[in-house]
Amino acid sequence: MDLSSLRSQFPTLAQSNDGYSLCYLDTAATSQKPQCVIDAMNQYYHLDNANVHRAAHQLSARATSQYEAVRDKLQLFVNAERREEIIFTHGTTESINMVANGLTAHIKAGTVILIDSAAHHANIVPWQELAKRTGAIIKPIPLTADCRLDVSAFDALLSQKPAIVALSHVSNALGTLNPVNELVAKAKQAGAITLVDGAQAIAHLTVDVQAIGCDFYVFSGHKMYGPTGVGTLYGRFEVLDTLSPLMTGGEMIKSVSFEHTEFNILPNRLEAGTPPIAEVIGLGAAIDFINGLPRSELHAAEQALLIYLQHELTALGDVVLYGAHTDNIGAVAFNLADEHHQDVGILLDQQGIAVRCGHHCAMPLMQTLGLKGCCRASIGVYTNKADIDNFINAMKSVKNLLL
Ligand code: PMP
Repeated sequence: MDLSSLRSQFPTLAQSNDGYSLCYLDTAATSQKPQCVIDAMNQYYHLDNANVHRAAHQLSARATSQYEAVRDKLQLFVNAERREEIIFTHGTTESINMVANGLTAHIKAGTVILIDSAAHHANIVPWQELAKRTGAIIKPIPLTADCRLDVSAFDALLSQKPAIVALSHVSNALGTLNPVNELVAKAKQAGAITLVDGAQAIAHLTVDVQAIGCDFYVFSGHKMYGPTGVGTLYGRFEVLDTLSPLMTGGEMIKSVSFEHTEFNILPNRLEAGTPPIAEVIGLGAAIDFINGLPRSELHAAEQALLIYLQHELTALGDVVLYGAHTDNIGAVAFNLADEHHQDVGILLDQQGIAVRCGHHCAMPLMQTLGLKGCCRASIGVYTNKADIDNFINAMKSVKNLLL
């Protein structure tokens, strides 16, 4: 397959701003959407718009079968054992909140919750709130000097028999990859419930939840070429079935009287209210798009591009890279000498280059690194060598201007 042809499927990338053609290096924040995803959502609104599950009419039956077909696609996509293990949410943040809230009754005061020191706030704050409700104690798993999770420190923390271990698959701020199969196996042996935040992994790696062995795996549609407003919570049936619902109301019930409500079975029990139907259908189209790609060829191409990006940035001089390894996924974090990351980002934007600047929703990680923030360049299936060269040329002029 000619990977360079992929780019033409993403209409946003064809634009120019102020005479510069768009060089989009912010895929880790949200990916661009291929035409097939836009078309699938348009088709739903043009032809099939109806609420799911409830009505006797054909339009609703059509919407329902499209919506439920995406659950089957997701089951295959992450290799879940059962379709009921796939819950539609609004995104990674909601998925983690559902788990942290749903486990409240399982957690005793004084028990330990281990979290990844490089985690996104979405994989920190819900656990802190759980700890406030239950008296559990949050313990961050330290990082090594090169920003990897410190496995020997992790081993030592496991002796405290944590109730929950929450990991990132790939750090959004740095792009570092965690050996989740190994970490989850150890956590399970110590008796912990495990959650892996796959928001930054799902578009780049082939994810097999049974091989990872985790209890929960969560991700967002918009980071995998799908729409915003939809995400997934995978839960191993036995554990998922014990979660109390975060939201209650319509759709999630079997029967309701003024005295008593009986909840529905999975997956409906955890999908209260009208779901984001068009977005789920768009996510289905994104899965078809990804499934149509030669994934190992693409992975090799993405890795080569990322290593090229790391190399060219280093070669510029006066650029500090954070946690850069050859097995990183999708992103490079950096600063230009002591220059403020925001200044660098604005000057890059003036040349058509879109990168992310700030704390990347990972303030504890920035504190560990002694930083207020940094810039992050991130790539997707549509990124090519010309994007990297444009970015590096723009960085040269930013450097000339600021240093
Ligand atoms: N975790 C990670 C690793 C992320 O990169 C993100 C998005 N930046 C989130 C969680 C939150 O995802 P969302 O905003 O789509 O809920």
